[in-house]
Amino acid sequence: MLFDSHAHLDVPHFDEDRKELFKKIEESNVSFVVNPGVDLETSRNAIKLAQEYPWLYAAVGFYPQETRYMDDDMLVLIENLAKKDKVVAIGEIGLDYYWDRTPHDVQQYWFRKQLQLAIKLNLPVIIHDREAHGDIVQILYEEKVFENTKVLMHCYSGSASMAKELLKHGCYFSIAGPVTYGNNRKAKAVVEAIPLDHMCIETDSPYLTPLPFRGKRNDPTLVEHTARKIAELKGVSFEEVAEATCNTAKKIFGIK
Ligand SMILES: [Zn+2]
Repeated sequence: MLFDSHAHLDVPHFDEDRKELFKKIEESNVSFVVNPGVDLETSRNAIKLAQEYPWLYAAVGFYPQETRYMDDDMLVLIENLAKKDKVVAIGEIGLDYYWDRTPHDVQQYWFRKQLQLAIKLNLPVIIHDREAHGDIVQILYEEKVFENTKVLMHCYSGSASMAKELLKHGCYFSIAGPVTYGNNRKAKAVVEAIPLDHMCIETDSPYLTPLPFRGKRNDPTLVEHTARKIAELKGVSFEEVAEATCNTAKKIFGIK
């Protein structure tokens, strides 16, 4: 039983063979997938897919680089989508200082607004943090997010010490394919620092394909490779990682 906490199955990369892929997922050891939106259209499409497939759930929100297209009306539309059946989180939202298309203050403004929305609706948040660790943490504290809802750091790329600090506030972390790339001392320290009851696994499909398939399109059936690497780094069995991370994700997203 594996839970892929983050896969973009609505994107055009899957248009040609989505039906076949979904059949393959249903026959695999993957039992649940969460499909986050990155803007209004992808949020709508994620819901549409989730309502069609029982194992698929949706999250809605504006990805940091897309927030330059946001306004108050858009926020209302996201709120309406968030109330629909099969929507289990607000996401992915956050800050991305790697790309330069959207000014930092614009990203921060809409990050705060979407955090406030999640708290209002009592939904967990899926956080995208790229080269913005300090500001992400500060805003999560200022908006009192940890006190009011669950926080999942998607494709966690911070340090082990930052993870330990955030764990004190009950934060959750999702580990993606890059953990399988090479002999990474930092990745090992991060995986060791996070207990399985605060860890999820994800593919971030169609991106970040784990070894041995790096370079090919990613899909949820490959999340197993990330789970196996975590088991190796933690010195526990694959089954333990699969079951524990599945339970963690079910708890975060309120799935029975
Ligand atoms: Zn994503």
